Amino acid sequence: MRRKFIAGNWKMNLDRASAIALAQQLAERSSHIEGVDLAVFPPSLYVDAVAQALAGSRVAWGVQNVYHQPNGAFTGEISVAMVKDLGCRYAILGHSERRHILGETDEMVNKKVHAVLDGGLTPIVCVGETIDERESGRTMEVIERQVNGSLAGLDAAQIRRTVIAYEPVWAIGTGKNATPAQAEEVHLALRKILADRYNSEIAQSVCIQYGGSVKASNARELLSQPDIDGALVGGASLKADEFLGIVAGALA
Ligand code: PEP
Repeated sequence: MRRKFIAGNWKMNLDRASAIALAQQLAERSSHIEGVDLAVFPPSLYVDAVAQALAGSRVAWGVQNVYHQPNGAFTGEISVAMVKDLGCRYAILGHSERRHILGETDEMVNKKVHAVLDGGLTPIVCVGETIDERESGRTMEVIERQVNGSLAGLDAAQIRRTVIAYEPVWAIGTGKNATPAQAEEVHLALRKILADRYNSEIAQSVCIQYGGSVKASNARELLSQPDIDGALVGGASLKADEFLGIVAGALA
C-alpha cells in the first residue's frame, strides 16, 4: 500500500517573514496528522529559515531545483551537498516552468536526478504535456519520452526512491485541473512504462503524484483514484487552510 504524499511548491512567492509564518502554521496544525507524508518547497533563499520553523514537525522540506555538479564555477547554482546541509529531504526536478521558461531538457533533468539520488535525497521528477500536445493526441508519447529521458540509467533501487509528478502544463496555475479520469489515465500509463522498463512490482511501488490546480475542493476526488498517490500543489500551498484541506482530502 503506497502512502499518500502531499507537497507544496511555493515557487517564487512570499517573503522571509511570511514563509516562516506559513511554515509555523503548518508545523502546528499538522502535528496530529498520521498516514500521509508532507513537504514544502520554499524559495531556496528561505529554506534555512523555513527548516528551523519545521524542525521536529510532521512537515519535511526541499528545494525547487538543484544543479548536478558538486561544486565549482557555476554562478547562481546550488549543489546537492548545500541542499543536504539545510536538512532537505527532497528536490523537485524538471518542473514545467523550468522546462518551458528556463529551457531545461530531459538530459539536464536526468543529470540532476542522478546527482540527487547519489546524494541520498528523493527527487520529485515532473512530467506533463502541453495543451497542444494533448489536443493533437500526443500526451502518452510526450510522457513516455520525458520519463525515458529524465529517468535514464536509473537502476531498480533508484527508481523505487524516485517520486514522479504528473503535471499537465495546461493545468498548472490555471485553475483548470485535469479531471480525475484524465489524471488516472496518465498515471496508469506511467505505471505501464515503469512495468515495461523494470517490472510490475516496481511499477506498483513508485509514488506518482498529480499536480495542476489541486485545491481543497477537488483534492478528494483526484486523490481517491487508484493510481494517484498524492499531489504536488502550487498556488493552494501558499495558504495553510487550503494546503491542510488538501491533506484532509488525501486522508478521506
Ligand atoms: C505546481 O507548481 O507544480 C503546480 C501544480 O501549481 P498549481 O497547483 O498552482 O497549479
